[in-house]
Amino acid sequence: MKPTAKRTAAVSPSPTVRLAALVAEAKTRGERIISLSVGEPDFPTPQHIVDAAKRALDDGFTKYTHPMGIRELREAIAARAEASGIPATADEVMVSPTKHAVFCAMMALVDDGDEVLLPDPGWVSYDPMVRLAGGVPVPVRADESTGFRLTPEAISAAVTRRTKAVVLNSPSNPAGSVLPREVMKGIADVCEDADLFLISDEIYERLVYDVAHVPPASLPGLFDRTVTVSGFSKTYSMTGWRLGWLVAEKRLLAEIGKVQEHTLTCCTAFAQKAGVAALTGPEDELKRMVAEFRARRDLMLAWIKKVGWPCTRPDGAFYAFPQTGPEKSADLALRLLNEASVAVVPGAAFGAAGEHHLRLSYATSRKLIDEGMAAIADARTT
Ligand code: PMP
Repeated sequence: MKPTAKRTAAVSPSPTVRLAALVAEAKTRGERIISLSVGEPDFPTPQHIVDAAKRALDDGFTKYTHPMGIRELREAIAARAEASGIPATADEVMVSPTKHAVFCAMMALVDDGDEVLLPDPGWVSYDPMVRLAGGVPVPVRADESTGFRLTPEAISAAVTRRTKAVVLNSPSNPAGSVLPREVMKGIADVCEDADLFLISDEIYERLVYDVAHVPPASLPGLFDRTVTVSGFSKTYSMTGWRLGWLVAEKRLLAEIGKVQEHTLTCCTAFAQKAGVAALTGPEDELKRMVAEFRARRDLMLAWIKKVGWPCTRPDGAFYAFPQTGPEKSADLALRLLNEASVAVVPGAAFGAAGEHHLRLSYATSRKLIDEGMAAIADARTT
């Protein structure tokens, strides 16, 4: 048989898959595992959003839509973008599951051999997406020395003549770091000087605690070179709806849109109606969720302190990323699964700079955070 394509051979399966498989196995053996590993809110999708999808189904809204998304939703997304300072019109919006949106951007911007600068530690899918697009991922250290924030200096030092784009993710997965306006401006200057595209993954934009989220596309002159992606998954507890968006200047969007047209066609029709309800409806539940996440963050940090791990305070998202000591993060995660029945994600999954850390998700109830962290504290001291 002929070999399969080199492009997928160059990509490893998600490093979290092995752990997830072990957790699933343990659960089938009837063991109770507490998961501090999930990247999705434990709240139900707010009822008015669910109702909008039900109505759409009853109305027979079940066919293909415009590949870029229904007009109503694109207008709601453009209004949301404008409110955050991004000068986008509805014609500069593509409705797309966030992960697919990032991939479409990579496919449209990256040529063979182009280098793409990625935060290290950073979300596990950026590196494989760059490789699938034929590019070369270049990790740029964003460790605790800078509060897990990329800096203009670090980006500038990594730029070569092959550099095509920089990926930013604020608030970040895995450390919950948020880039302040001044840093964002500095990064914007580097991108303008070196003529780089910016792919800004803002999926956690609404989950910030006492700090402001600054979209780079809102900075003067930066809209034309920035692709902004965000979505419904984390903000509205809608991970299973597979709905998000991408905002980019028309010329860029025309290229990115081709990738979506020839792969996804469009997002699920009735899910898009739910998206309209999410963006235009009441925000009381969102506010309650954010307040709860903040309380859980403080609880998680108190536990981490008790365990004795140094940890930079996360200002956004729903993850803490403590430094755990000399034991390899994969070994520690496996030990905690076996000894404490708690699932966590090894920091090394997020890049070399994530080694000797764990990602602890607080997208779970305070009760489970208490139980899970108490078990971790016990396992470490016995
Ligand atoms: N970007 C980041 C940083 C994420 O953490 C995730 C989800 N874990 C995504 C994108 C993808 O989001 P979605 O599942 O909505 O496609």
